[in-house]
Formats: sequence, C-alpha cells, structure tokens
Amino acid sequence: MGVARVSTVAKPTRIGVVRDEVFLDHEAPGYHPERPERLTSIWRALDGWAAGKGVVTFPARAATTAELERAHDGRFVRRALEILGRGSGYFDPDTYFSPGSLAAALGAAGGCIDAANAVRRGELELAFGLHRPPGHHATRAASMGFCIFNNIAITAAALRAEGLERILIFDFDVHHGNGTQDIFWSDPHVLFVSFHLWPHYPGSGQCEETGMGEGEGYTVNVPFPHGTGNAEYRLGVDRLVEPLADRFRPEMVLVSAGYDGHRDDPLGGLALDEDGFRMLGARMRRIADRHAGGKLMFFLEGGYNLDALASSVVATLEGAEGGEGRGGEARGGEGGEEEMQPRALQMLARTLDAVRGKWGGL
Ligand SMILES: [Zn+2]
Repeated sequence: MGVARVSTVAKPTRIGVVRDEVFLDHEAPGYHPERPERLTSIWRALDGWAAGKGVVTFPARAATTAELERAHDGRFVRRALEILGRGSGYFDPDTYFSPGSLAAALGAAGGCIDAANAVRRGELELAFGLHRPPGHHATRAASMGFCIFNNIAITAAALRAEGLERILIFDFDVHHGNGTQDIFWSDPHVLFVSFHLWPHYPGSGQCEETGMGEGEGYTVNVPFPHGTGNAEYRLGVDRLVEPLADRFRPEMVLVSAGYDGHRDDPLGGLALDEDGFRMLGARMRRIADRHAGGKLMFFLEGGYNLDALASSVVATLEGAEGGEGRGGEARGGEGGEEEMQPRALQMLARTLDAVRGKWGGL
C-alpha cells in the first residue's frame, strides 16, 4: 500500500505582476479601444482572484536607453523619446501618445525587465506584465499598432544580456506579432512562435515566414482562419509548440498574451474563450516546467472587451498556476479533428512543412 502524500496547506504560488497607476496615464484624445479601463478591469478581477495568494507587485520602472537599444535601433529610440517629449500626437494613425505616455511606455518596459529577472532568479513561479501600452507590433525601428516600445522583446534581450541562451516567445494575440518577429528575425537564441488570425492587421505572419540566416527556422507562424477556436489552438500547441520546445529546450518561456482572440472581442475574429486561455496558460506551464525550471512570464498585449479581457487574464493565470504539468487538467479545446476547421488544420500542416527541415522529426 502506498503512502499518500496529502498536503493540507498548499504552498502559495508566488506570482509577480507588473502594475502601476502610471499605466493609466497613457490616454487617447478621444475614444480608442486601447484605453485605461482595460487595466482597471483586469486589476479588479485580479484582486478578487489573488486574495490570499502570494502576489508581488512590480511597479513601473523607466527602462534605460541601453535597455531599449538592445531590441530597438538607436536612432529610433532617440527619435521616439523626442516625439514622446512633445506631449501628445500620433506615431501612426492607430498609435497615439499623450503627456503620460513617456512614463507609461518606459515604465512598462522596465517593470517587465524587473519582474522577468525575478522569475529568472527563481524568486517567483510566474509573472504577468499588466501594463499599457502593449508592445508586440513595435518593430526594431518603428512604433505602430497601439505599441510604442516592444516590451516582450526588450525583456527577452535583457534576459539574453543576463546570460540566457534560449528563450521561447509564444504569441497568442489575434494579431501577428510582427514587431517581435522583426527584432529576432535573424536570431537563433529567441524562438518566436505566433498563432494569429489571417487575413488581419498587420498582414504579416505567413507559414513561410521562418526567419533568416542563423535565425532560419526560429520564426514560426500559423495564420489561422476566421472562427478558429480552442480546439485548433490546443492541437496547434500539441503538434507544433510543444515539439518545438522539446527540441529548442528554452531556458525561459515568455508569452505575448493578447485577448483579442476572444469570441466576444470587437477587434477579433477568432472564437477562443476563457477555457481556451486557461488551457494555453496550462500548456505554457507544462513547457516551462519541462524545460525551463518553471520560468514563465506573460505580457499583456491586446484584448478590447473589458469583461472578456479581465476573465481571460484570470483564466490564463489559473492555468499557468495549477496547470496540467502539475497534475491538473485544464479544460478547453477537447474534441476530435473532425470538428475542427479544415482550413485551420491545413495552415497548421503548412507551417509544420515550412519548419520541418530545421526541426527534424516534427
Ligand atoms: Zn492584438
């Protein structure tokens, strides 16, 4: 007869969140979907969920020019700082800035670096950057698509500077993470995998976009059709992301967590829901536990339905905290391939074909 190990007092998960009132001061002149209420909605839901858990807050901390220039072109950084100093205006028709944007944009990047380093040192089990503005559309040399600086890329570059050799970035925002792709296009130290809706903004992210030079095969894109949901995303992680991670063996897992793929999102077109985001959180937990000593951090990108956004962030945290790798099974996306969109399965097969040469046996 075995001895059951029963723990009556669970060890609290130590979760770090990047959170600061300065992120509310980045404000559009009129209505804009990327608005401060996104964060207050998430923070309210988080406070309910996190009561009694070991949640540590990382405040905004202005990223230095040197930190920005690890991911961005130096001339662009100087110009962006100068433009932000003017007070208010637009980087492109979608991407506004206001008097509070400089502190928010720099503070998001620096706060994320600080939280990520705490995860790297093993002080946290997981972290979530709950900041604005988002980052994954900002390229090496341009702000665009609501994004000023690329928070996840700046953080990955900071982790590289701390000596990490292999970082996995998984991007599940409904939009392609073109900026992150651009920054690491030739870099074999960062494996960038994006699931997104296509056709959709910004238009990039085809199966055949796989990186260049030493980075060939380290950019992986799955452009899913309208209406793709939990089941196809689950299959995509199982067939593509996990096998890639098994070969790449990341030392840390970073996730561009956008919630505009929720079925109720006004800017979306996918059919994910809270069960799907919980499953994705759990799958990322499993990958991080298997390869990266559990080191896992999420970065808020899009998500414009305030209620869906808040509940989906909490669902992701639930999955990532207790997920499948730790004995639980997160629901979301069960079902046979016969119930999935044929076009989604075709796109997944095309991506596997595009990167199989680099990653043998996929
Ligand atoms: Zn998005």
